[in-house]
Amino acid sequence: MIYLDYAADTPVREEVLKTFCEATKTYVANPNAGHKLGKEAKLAITEATEKIASYLKVKPEEIIYTSGATEANNLAIKGIVNEYKRYGKHMITTYLEHSSVTGPMLYLEQQGYEIDYVDLLPNGKVDTDHLKELLRPDTILVSIGAVDSELGVCQDISDLGEMISEYPNCHFHVDATQAIGKIQVDLEKVDLITLAPHKFFGLHGIGILIKKETIHIEPLIHGGISTTTYRSGTPTAALILSAEKAIHLIKEDQKIYYNKVMMLNQLIRKKLKGYNDVMVNSPEAASPFILNLSIKGIKPYVFQQKLADREVFVSTKSACSTANTPSRPVYALTKDRKRALATLRISLSYLTTEEEVEAFIQIFEQCYNELKK
Ligand code: PLP
Repeated sequence: MIYLDYAADTPVREEVLKTFCEATKTYVANPNAGHKLGKEAKLAITEATEKIASYLKVKPEEIIYTSGATEANNLAIKGIVNEYKRYGKHMITTYLEHSSVTGPMLYLEQQGYEIDYVDLLPNGKVDTDHLKELLRPDTILVSIGAVDSELGVCQDISDLGEMISEYPNCHFHVDATQAIGKIQVDLEKVDLITLAPHKFFGLHGIGILIKKETIHIEPLIHGGISTTTYRSGTPTAALILSAEKAIHLIKEDQKIYYNKVMMLNQLIRKKLKGYNDVMVNSPEAASPFILNLSIKGIKPYVFQQKLADREVFVSTKSACSTANTPSRPVYALTKDRKRALATLRISLSYLTTEEEVEAFIQIFEQCYNELKK
């Protein structure tokens, strides 16, 4: 089997699973219970949160645990809007965002909020001149992903944050789900940051929203204190401890992984240059973990199935987007509907080997030749 869909999900690391299983057995009580067993669970959560905060260079009080990145994005966007609507109803985002960012934004648009989409340069980066034009005194939120999930475009978050910080009523949310553990991002000027451990060999069922302590958000879920007042519900010590383990492990070797994945990405790009009908959609400077391409005249889900028949697993778009519709990010960059309808996404990780990439290239060629006949 050759798994090349790591942007959708990653296999859980043994150490992470072990941490989860041990913590599940050890911490049997509700962490909010007043007795000794509850206090032990709470202490374990506090210690894990302190470690996570130090890895991410934030304060422990700034960490909010959610069920995943989708909830974290919803909490950030709806939370800011509900808290700061008295200052305005204007928001800015891009056409590169994941559906868990555009979904709440479109929902809010129906409630009377105004959304502007900032233009992108040919390399996918935000056109900062256009962003300057769009920012207004009544803009309350800008939401831009650090790395988009379909093309892998990396934004210059620090520069964008600098620009946005000139507007005192405006908050900057960054969905860093495809960035954390993969590429270096400077998040100092960001108010809200989303991440999910299952994208870097952690478990499903937990996400993190970092909310800088200087700002407030209205909770999505009401009903008692958890680890914070911003998200109610009994916190799961085992998931939090497993998240700490996943972040700790990925942080340790991130640079080595990056260089290896870059080499593999370049290898695939080089081979794809031999096909006249294959267009690489990911810009050269995109994250090496994601490589998006379109094949002229071949339906992507047919190609995906052909590859799957040979035990090679890739995706056509982000797993959360609607099937058989054009990829919004690819359309935004190319303005070519056919190309945006024909996308395949290959995503790599430190687990990907050169042998797998070579085998993938051979199988790709076989499938391509069969379908072109
Ligand atoms: N944001 C981005 C950029 C993603 O790639 C994904 C998942 O693909 C999500 C958010 C949603 O993540 P989750 O599955 O944890 O809700």
